[in-house]
Amino acid sequence: MKHILTFAVAALSATVANADVLKTVEIESGVYAIVGPIGQRDKENLGNNATFGLVVTSDGAILMDTGGSYLGAKMLDDTIKSITDQPVKYVIDTGGQDHRWLGNGYWQEHGAQVIASEAAVEDHNDRGSEQLSALLFMLGEDGIAGTDAADPDITFETDYTLTLGEVTLELHHETGAHTPGDSTVWYADKSVLFAGDIVYMERILGIGPQSNTLEWVKSFEALAALEPKHIVPGHGAPTDLAGATRDTYDYLINIRGKMAEHIENGGDAIGSVKIDQSKFSYLKNFDQLYGKNAQETYIQMEWE
Ligand SMILES: [Zn+2]
Repeated sequence: MKHILTFAVAALSATVANADVLKTVEIESGVYAIVGPIGQRDKENLGNNATFGLVVTSDGAILMDTGGSYLGAKMLDDTIKSITDQPVKYVIDTGGQDHRWLGNGYWQEHGAQVIASEAAVEDHNDRGSEQLSALLFMLGEDGIAGTDAADPDITFETDYTLTLGEVTLELHHETGAHTPGDSTVWYADKSVLFAGDIVYMERILGIGPQSNTLEWVKSFEALAALEPKHIVPGHGAPTDLAGATRDTYDYLINIRGKMAEHIENGGDAIGSVKIDQSKFSYLKNFDQLYGKNAQETYIQMEWE
């Protein structure tokens, strides 16, 4: 008896440690968002500074996005085990950002098949070593232990239908967004859309050299056309279409509209940071990223 009690206490403390990083939200019966912190990657979150999705079926579970490292994936797995006894059978990499795919190896080792768009895999190959170096810096050697750039098992060009048990999910890659291979996962029966990095909630989205704001707008419009009741974003808490439009789409339209004016008026790259984004200053990480986003948008729009 004493032995069992000791085990129970150990298991409980592990759950509490994960709960500090990952919060579980049930959206519909058997459908979850697992919400990580919206700040930077660090030794505590193990690269899980993002939101993940989970669908539980009678035949196993499907996970949207791997976690940001091997140990980050294990943390996610421990969280999933507190939700369901069903093993994860499929993992979908919804894009090319580290938290979408650098846990591939962990899940493959634990019997899951990993699915990604061809454009995402190309991006993984292009930026994998750069992402691993950045992670080493932020997570330390212990934090990235076991992490490698593993390829998925199944790839698709634009569309893929995944059926497991009673659940059918439609995977769709429209075009680029935050990363070139971003995809959505549509659970039509429950009207839940897993948006990956196409939707950022609560925090300002990040525009990097791998992003394309023109394509991002198109990718967003494609998911909006499905009129989802629920959206599980790539960052922040689950939302609906109005919330996603406010925090992501409107931001993109604003920065692109203001930048077009700036360029038309002969503005340069240095002056581009001064375009008016103040309407979005309520978003977390705004001060750190608004200037970088403006400069990156300027560089891209100069060539459109
Ligand atoms: Zn992300």
